[in-house]
Amino acid sequence: MDISRRGWLGLAAAASAAAPARAITIRPMLTDPSGFAPAPGIAHLKYNENPLGPPASALQAMADLARQAWYYADDAEGLLAAMIGKRLGVPAAHVVLGHGSSEVITSAALAWGRRGTILVPALQFDEPLLYPIAQGLNYRRVAMAPDLGIDLGALGRAAAAPDVAMIYLCNPNNPTGMMLPAADLLAFARSLPPRVTLLVDEAYMELADDPATSTMLPLVQSGANIIVTRTFSKLFGMAGLRIGYAVASPANAAELKRHRLTISLNAPGLAAAIAAWDDAAFQQQSRAQISAARHVLQAAVARAGTIALPSQANFLFVKVANADRFAAAMAQRGILVRGAWGPAWPEWSRVSTGRMDDVARYAAALPELVQA
Ligand code: PLP
Repeated sequence: MDISRRGWLGLAAAASAAAPARAITIRPMLTDPSGFAPAPGIAHLKYNENPLGPPASALQAMADLARQAWYYADDAEGLLAAMIGKRLGVPAAHVVLGHGSSEVITSAALAWGRRGTILVPALQFDEPLLYPIAQGLNYRRVAMAPDLGIDLGALGRAAAAPDVAMIYLCNPNNPTGMMLPAADLLAFARSLPPRVTLLVDEAYMELADDPATSTMLPLVQSGANIIVTRTFSKLFGMAGLRIGYAVASPANAAELKRHRLTISLNAPGLAAAIAAWDDAAFQQQSRAQISAARHVLQAAVARAGTIALPSQANFLFVKVANADRFAAAMAQRGILVRGAWGPAWPEWSRVSTGRMDDVARYAAALPELVQA
């Protein structure tokens, strides 16, 4: 982080003139006031971030282009969409960039929510739906399979209701990390009534064992009624730069664009994403590091005599005695992980791969705290 403590204090002073009660911290009590990182000694294993990023290529691009940030970045947006389309085998008109993939998912929920109900698996990341829900979105949760996987049979039955306009599912899923078998998801997508659009959130797909055979992108290419979203926040380690995208048919892409915020993309994020997109060496290293950290976590889970769900992402969903008590006990040691996802899953705690030294601290503490 290249913002000096004095810089922050200057910001704080300016802010306090306008709004005296507001503290300039991003994660109150846990954030080092000199930057965006947690305070020294805190292992932040809570938000599925990737400590390897941003890649050096992206840092260089941001530094080189910082002086040009007084321009609106429309042309860079077009360039990145074209680069993404070229690699993924679709014209740029199929690619919709967003302020993180969250923005395009929110846009989808706003657009399709006007047509009808949105189905969501009960145990799934759903933050991009919060704003549409506040706007009155009709959505329905669908129960999980007994193994905590997404229950495609139950979703298919629920989608038969005539009011259903969209299904939003994450593959791999968050917080479970589990991947749906590609053949099952393909058959499911083909079985849906034409009025139902399938939104597959592939935020973690590039970290999976075999992304090429697991992705639903070929369905988009074949003209199916499906939207796939991806992000620069995970593989590329750029969560704070807020760049993500959807890949969809031109008609669905145009609908998403109509529901996006106006001019929501930022110049440093676009510069970084354009540089990182072709940085194959970094992407390979990032996958390797995440996989290594996941193995350390899996070994710790086995040593602690418990289980984790089979994850293909940069986190594990670990079975403990009581997830809220476990997260509190870990926090006592300066290690931040997720407590219970909801009352239906009190025994499962999610831990992200994070920095290797932080992962090692978690691994060392787990056997003692698993029964907390
Ligand atoms: N989708 C899933 C499944 C996620 O877990 C997350 C963030 O953790 C996102 C989307 C949001 O990503 P972005 O940073 O691109 O908005």
